[in-house]
Amino acid sequence: MAPPPTIIRKLTCEEHRCRIFSDLKMLERANEGKLRWNHDPIVPKRAPWPDHNGKLLTHNGNAKLLDDAFPPPDPRHIAAKVHWHIASDGTIGASGKYDPKSITTPGGIRYQPIPPDQPDAVCELCESGDIISPWKRHYNSTYRPGILHCLKVWIRAIMKS
Ligand SMILES: [Zn+2]
Repeated sequence: MAPPPTIIRKLTCEEHRCRIFSDLKMLERANEGKLRWNHDPIVPKRAPWPDHNGKLLTHNGNAKLLDDAFPPPDPRHIAAKVHWHIASDGTIGASGKYDPKSITTPGGIRYQPIPPDQPDAVCELCESGDIISPWKRHYNSTYRPGILHCLKVWIRAIMKS
C-alpha cells in the first residue's frame, strides 16, 4: 500500500473548520457508514456554565470520526475530532452542533485550532483572503479580527486577483 502522505497542517478558526466539516459532509458520511464514530467517555465539566440560551452545560462529549479507507498508522485514519457541550436536559448546548477540533482530509491537509498559547497566530484561511466577517463569527469565538483588518485582507485579495 502507498505510504501515508506527509500531513500539511493549517491553523484555522473554528468557523472555517465548521465550514470544511460541512463541505466534506462528515456527518452524512458517518450516517452512511463511510466514517465510523469512536466515542470517548462523557465527562462532567469541572464547573458547569450556562450557554447564551440559558441552558446549563454540564458535560463534555468528545469523539473521533474514523476513516477505515486509511487504516492506521495512516494519519488520515482520524478524519475528524469533534467536541460538544452537553446540557443538563441531555441536548447539545451552546452552538447546538458538534465543533470540529481537527479535520484531516483524504488529500493530507490537517486543519487544526489556533493554540491558545499563541495569541498572535492567525487563521491561515482567513488571512489567505477568505476572511470571515465579524458578524458571521460564532457567539463564543475567541478569534475575531476586527472589521478594519477584514477590509485590509479583502482589499489585498482583490488586488491580487
Ligand atoms: Zn478562518
